[in-house]
Amino acid sequence: MDVKQDIRIEGGDWGQMHVSKGDHIRITALEGPQVADLWAFDDRDSAIFLSAEHTRSTLEKLMPAVGDALYSNRRHPMLTVVEDTSPGTHDFLMSACDPRRYEILGHQGYHKSCAENLCKAMDAAGAIAHELPSPFNTFQNVEVRADASITIIPPKVEAGQYIEMRVESDLLIIVSACPMDIAMTNGPDGKTRPIRLECLS
Ligand SMILES: [Zn+2]
Repeated sequence: MDVKQDIRIEGGDWGQMHVSKGDHIRITALEGPQVADLWAFDDRDSAIFLSAEHTRSTLEKLMPAVGDALYSNRRHPMLTVVEDTSPGTHDFLMSACDPRRYEILGHQGYHKSCAENLCKAMDAAGAIAHELPSPFNTFQNVEVRADASITIIPPKVEAGQYIEMRVESDLLIIVSACPMDIAMTNGPDGKTRPIRLECLS
């Protein structure tokens, strides 16, 4: 496949692209552990979007793997995972980080967040944000315990590893290289790193 679009997203920033049915998108952790929040919206109707709860209930699992589709809030497949060179640890349970999350963690003043990045990307794309869906948190490592408690632990993804998905309908794709530098989301060193977002066709 040829690279049709190629965006480098610095740690804490966002990128967006329009993709067509049959394209592939590839998300790469360029320089080491970094979570990339992924949203997908129907390109003609942003009220139709990638839905964590519809995907979990359709797949009957917490997290999609190679061969699994990711479903919309109308339960149609939007993306299908075709390759994953990372350890396959992703998260479809947690909401995006937002200003209140940083406040709860003790941060004072402004902090970038994935929720704000989503809003900026929707504005840039000229799309209406009917609501802020929960993202597919690629490379995020969430431990689910037998007592049903959950904790974010450092990601396992290493530099150069990627997840690739086939696009099942025309979509607006938005990715936020999560700005979290307090919780373990991006690892214990409190650093954020760049993400590469490619469209292949
Ligand atoms: Zn985030």
